[in-house]
Amino acid sequence: MPIKVLAPEVVAKIAAGEIVERPASVVKELIENSLDAGATQITVEALGGGVRLIRVADNGAGIPSSEVELAFQRHATSKLSALADLDEIATLGFRGEALPSIAVVADITVITRAQGDLGGTYLSLQNGAVVEKGQRSSPPGTTVTVRNLFRNVPARLKFLKSQSTENSHIGNVVSQYSLAFPEVRFNLHLEGRSILRTAGDGDTKQVLIQIYGLETVKAMLEVRTIPEEPSEAFPTVWGYVSIPSITRSSRRYLSFFVNRRWVQSSLLSAALEGAYRGLLMTGRHPLAVINVSLPPQDIDVNIHPTKREVRFVHEGEVFTALQRAVRKALVEEAPVPTLKSPPSVHTQDTSSQSQMPVFPNHYDREDESGSMPSHIPQPPLRTAVPPLRVLGQLGNTYIVAEGPDGVYLIDQHAAHERVLYERIKAERLRQAIEVQGLLQPAVVQLSPHQEATLLSCEQTLSEYGFTLEAFGERAYLVRALPAFLKGKSPAEVIEDLLEAVSEKDALSELQEKVSISLACQGAVKAGQTLSPQELRQLVRDLESTNLPRTCPHGRPTMIHVSSAQLEKEFGRA
Ligand code: ADP
Ligand code: MG
Repeated sequence: MPIKVLAPEVVAKIAAGEIVERPASVVKELIENSLDAGATQITVEALGGGVRLIRVADNGAGIPSSEVELAFQRHATSKLSALADLDEIATLGFRGEALPSIAVVADITVITRAQGDLGGTYLSLQNGAVVEKGQRSSPPGTTVTVRNLFRNVPARLKFLKSQSTENSHIGNVVSQYSLAFPEVRFNLHLEGRSILRTAGDGDTKQVLIQIYGLETVKAMLEVRTIPEEPSEAFPTVWGYVSIPSITRSSRRYLSFFVNRRWVQSSLLSAALEGAYRGLLMTGRHPLAVINVSLPPQDIDVNIHPTKREVRFVHEGEVFTALQRAVRKALVEEAPVPTLKSPPSVHTQDTSSQSQMPVFPNHYDREDESGSMPSHIPQPPLRTAVPPLRVLGQLGNTYIVAEGPDGVYLIDQHAAHERVLYERIKAERLRQAIEVQGLLQPAVVQLSPHQEATLLSCEQTLSEYGFTLEAFGERAYLVRALPAFLKGKSPAEVIEDLLEAVSEKDALSELQEKVSISLACQGAVKAGQTLSPQELRQLVRDLESTNLPRTCPHGRPTMIHVSSAQLEKEFGRA
């Protein structure tokens, strides 16, 4: 085919397709316009999953009568006038593309009244062209109604999911913006039902409760950077993150806002999850709402068609600031799980589910199991662990200890894992892992896959005290291993390690996995009898770790039954 310039209406539809992917994208663009117009109240309605109707009404600045038609022209914007402005964008929109894009894929009506205007203006468009214009009485502000989305783009329509899925995407968008703008009152109606209503009083935590439910939010910690010097004021990080025992199986519950713009960012996700290192079970993810604020010239918001991604000028600084702030909250505030009386499984989940109308997608519901069975997280305690007096061993598995407020049951394996894990990491850094040479080297026979994995991590293993030597086809001699593994079968140790790591691991991930695996293998097992002296030593060692309450896999090391709970159970209170 010869090269031809595409007809303008085809170009317009292609461009619109980049911005308007699904009904929720329309909602996003309209909400952004309302926020840019300074609205303090935004009402969103959708019917038929947003295909039949989307209406966004605000009490913002409105569009002056003389400019209403202009707003629907491509690249017409009131927010940017010169190229230099692109460096200092303070509004959510700036390209002047949303309204014209929506207008080519749907029927659109706008009624608006600018602050100075006496009456309102009405404009109606079909296929991108004005079909009606006139005066209409209207309160100050703007109401945009979008009907029959994608009627003229059957290919798009075909790819839309069920009505409830599209509604859950719309719910997600409105939830995200109500978290980013807690001072704005949001109202969401889906298929005629009121789904979300925020107070608009500026309190992010109240909005979180509306979205996730009180029980979940009670188990979230506040994150806030406190700059030591005024010059270190940026990047500022604040928000909320879940304690390590409240997790989800997807990253859908991570919300990031950069200068109040809702963004997806693998950099920010990695920084956040890095802060949970050693606290979460693999495949689990925290919940978080994180705001990052930066001078506008330190981010580029103009790199993605829907502005969903941003680029940071100083990536490293942002990464470190976020990770530090979250880590600090986790280390200082993570609570000891407490027995709930009477013990009940998943107490927290049921209550949080019933209060979770909007944010999670409906198909994610079965996954709301955040907590470990039979305990619920309590409001944060400040201290690490109190000094504990060991009373004895229970079933050769748990240590029973007394603290200033009640009884602690400590899982001896999990506790020892935590102790060894921190020791191994510290000693590796100082290159001080004690090595045990084997008089009689052990032979390990590996599968091709195991051998490939071994070759990818050999250097790292040597830093942990292993000396391995090739010995025939896929066979290796273990000549030395870390001293704390004395008495273990070298072949089993190596096999477990190779099971834990993967060829694809980045170095830090690899080191982390090796530390965890070695801690697990070196730790006392459940069912192992310990002397009173060993029990005491283990508890002392645990007390002096950085994160005594969780094992490196993220499971709790201890459960607390408070004196008050005991009194209640025995009918003394
Ligand atoms: P952009 O937001 O990038 O400027 P849009 O196509 O979304 O582009 O909007 C075009 C213009 O229409 C905006 O710059 C603004 O002046 C005006 N506008 C759109 N929606 C509203 C609204 N809800 N309230 C006030 N003005 C609006
Ligand atoms: Mg816009």
